[in-house]
Amino acid sequence: MQFDILTLFPAMLEGPLTASILGKAVDKGLISVDLHNLRDWAEGKHLVTDDTPYGGGDGMVMKVDPVARALADLKGKRPQSRILLMSPQGKTFQQADAERLGRESGLIFVCGRYEGYDERVRSLVDEEISLGDYVLTGGELAAATILDATARLVPGVLGAVGSALNDSFSDGLLEYPQYTRPAEFNGMCVPAVLVSGNHQVIATWRRHEQLRRTLARRPELLETAPLTKADRLFLEELRASLKKTTSEDQGT
Ligand code: SAM
Repeated sequence: MQFDILTLFPAMLEGPLTASILGKAVDKGLISVDLHNLRDWAEGKHLVTDDTPYGGGDGMVMKVDPVARALADLKGKRPQSRILLMSPQGKTFQQADAERLGRESGLIFVCGRYEGYDERVRSLVDEEISLGDYVLTGGELAAATILDATARLVPGVLGAVGSALNDSFSDGLLEYPQYTRPAEFNGMCVPAVLVSGNHQVIATWRRHEQLRRTLARRPELLETAPLTKADRLFLEELRASLKKTTSEDQGT
């Protein structure tokens, strides 16, 4: 899969994209990442990519024309790639978006800076994505995060390191608790079921823990997660026992 990142600060992305799993995926040719400096499409002696806002106000606004020239060139080379605008005003990125974007042949990320973009930049992109309801200084870390979450789903990228299938959100729920050696740490023991060797019992325990953890931390996920009859029954029993414990604690 091809990833292109248009940024004023390519150096910010060199580290995260060359180390560990992503670096290996690049070496193996499973993904390709190209960083492009927006200044290469700026014009004039000073290669200006930003200007003061019409109507006045603080800060600088990213000019539309260098972005338009850059995207025309990049799209010329990669006509199938989808253009993503990094923006706190976009749709919040979710695991489902990583899965959807992972089915594209390529992605072109546009990273903003300063006060953001000239509004007309929005007409040049396919979609606007936000990392969350907070404001970063630039789109680079958002692009790196979205690239990471998407690239790890490309077949072969995780390899023997792990599988994305059991990760939180992949089946609509949070992941079950994980343990590794030592079996006991500061008096905290690994649940006996995990050393029982009984795979069926372990699978049931893990599913129950996923449901228990999701109910405790992210109950809204249960409204849309695909649940079996057995899951629903377990949740009903869990809610009933939690209700009973709360009333006993309150002495009612
Ligand atoms: N003035 C803009 C606004 O209120 O929407 C924010 C500009 S922000 C300081 C500069 C750039 O950082 C944005 O253009 C965008 O590329 C990136 N950015 C900031 N927060 C982001 C977020 N939550 N998700 C994705 N990109 C973000």
